[in-house]
Amino acid sequence: MVKKYDAIIIGGGLGGLTCANRLAVSGHKVLLLESHIKLGGLATWFKRKGGHIFDISLHGFPIGMIKTCRKYWSKQIADSIVQLKGIRFDNPQFSFTTTFDKVDFKRLLKEEFSINQEVIDDFFHTVRSMNFFDDQSMTTKELFEKFFPGNDAVTRMLMEPIAYANGSTLDDPAITYGIVFSNFMDKGVFTFRGGTDVLIKAMADILETNGVDVRLRSPAQKILVRDKKVYGVIANGEEYHCDAIVSNANLISTINDFTGASHFDDDFIENVNKVRLNNSSCQVYIGIKKGEKIDYIGDLLFTSTAGKFDSKMLCAKDVTSRTFSIYYPDIRPGTDMYSIVASTNANYDDWADLSEENYQRDKKRLIDTSIDALEKYIPDIRRKIDYIEAATPRTFKHYTRHLRGASFGTKFEGLKVSMELPKQIGGLFHTGSVGIIMSGWLGAVNYGVIVANNVDKHLRKC
Ligand SMILES: Cc1cc2nc3c(=O)[nH]c(=O)nc-3n(C[C@H](O)[C@H](O)[C@H](O)COP(=O)(O)OP(=O)(O)OC[C@H]3O[C@@H](n4cnc5c(N)ncnc54)[C@H](O)[C@@H]3O)c2cc1C
Repeated sequence: MVKKYDAIIIGGGLGGLTCANRLAVSGHKVLLLESHIKLGGLATWFKRKGGHIFDISLHGFPIGMIKTCRKYWSKQIADSIVQLKGIRFDNPQFSFTTTFDKVDFKRLLKEEFSINQEVIDDFFHTVRSMNFFDDQSMTTKELFEKFFPGNDAVTRMLMEPIAYANGSTLDDPAITYGIVFSNFMDKGVFTFRGGTDVLIKAMADILETNGVDVRLRSPAQKILVRDKKVYGVIANGEEYHCDAIVSNANLISTINDFTGASHFDDDFIENVNKVRLNNSSCQVYIGIKKGEKIDYIGDLLFTSTAGKFDSKMLCAKDVTSRTFSIYYPDIRPGTDMYSIVASTNANYDDWADLSEENYQRDKKRLIDTSIDALEKYIPDIRRKIDYIEAATPRTFKHYTRHLRGASFGTKFEGLKVSMELPKQIGGLFHTGSVGIIMSGWLGAVNYGVIVANNVDKHLRKC
């Protein structure tokens, strides 16, 4: 017997989870297939001996996440979102701590960088009014040149955190920068108190209550298409039928591998072939011995030894720039454990084809240099470390199946391709991190909601 659903969601990242939940709330029968052993995708965590829990992508998101979670998940989830108090920058050009909100950034631009108040107000007004339908030809570099000509230090302050958050470069469209920066700049940076494990458990409980059929360890292998319409999915060798499919998996894999390029128009595939994936990441997870303490040094530390902001250097294997996320015990109330995660943007090619011996050697170097860098802020850190481990672009590819271990989906051109899927094949949709704007926790959840609305309309027509 082939099982029949209204909609099948491939992938349980934040976009897929949200889309599944919205569709179930709207009364549809939903199956969610996740290839990994747990839900969450990149919004994930892992446990290690000694009581350590490490969060992978819980570094910070904009305030909009509170409203989005309250509206589309639950009040309980929204109420656990709290502001990070101190975001610290330390590099050869400047060193200070900020609350990372509009008021403080305006103050810093004036006091630290001597920028004229009118220019500051005009810049904030310009980026705030940017939207998807604006001119897409202006690059972020041109935007900064217009307001802060030749000012490398201001470029760094405005750009480095956003580059960490979504892999943006100065050559990306200014609107992608404007939209994401304004989201963050509104009221500062926020996190989820309780940790990613608590968040994803709360989401899984809501899915269960709303009747979503969730299957873990169930990689989708094929999307079934007949007469330019989807009719099912093959996963784990079983066939499931449906009227709509939402892929939360990698956009390019969805088109080329699961569906097959032959089902799409040639000019659409030409555009698909032009979509660039975003960069990948490396991380070092540092567990602090039970009973040891770390004095407050800020929640997020953007550190760099590079002379100025440079997108290529930010991803280079010889790391000059790192973000340290310090997790104090109050992130998981009731525990007394500290952990630190060092994150860097990275190129997949630098890691992909290393022999096992060289891979282990380079991972060790990544760990060693991260501790060296951390010593500047916590001089006795070596004595306090109980556990340490590193992840590379290969790790991200392995766990999420994203091509080239892409951390933040695709560059801007991927958004149009993602949105146009249903025009090519009836009932085929994509959601999740894509096009820079729909990236990160907030972007992925919001895109899940948008796509759920489109799927709902499609199902009602069916
Ligand atoms: C190191 C790092 C740090 C980050 N830090 C932050 C941060 O601080 N703040 C922030 O807002 N964002 C951050 N992000 C980005 C953010 O985590 C992602 O943009 C977001 O979680 C992506 O959600 P998604 O819906 O696109 O799905 P993903 O998380 O990409 O999940 C896709 C899911 O699909 C599943 N899947 C794939 N193929 C199949 C298949 N064939 N069958 C079934 N299932 C499949 C995968 O297993 C996965 O569960 C970070 C990302 C990284 C890598």
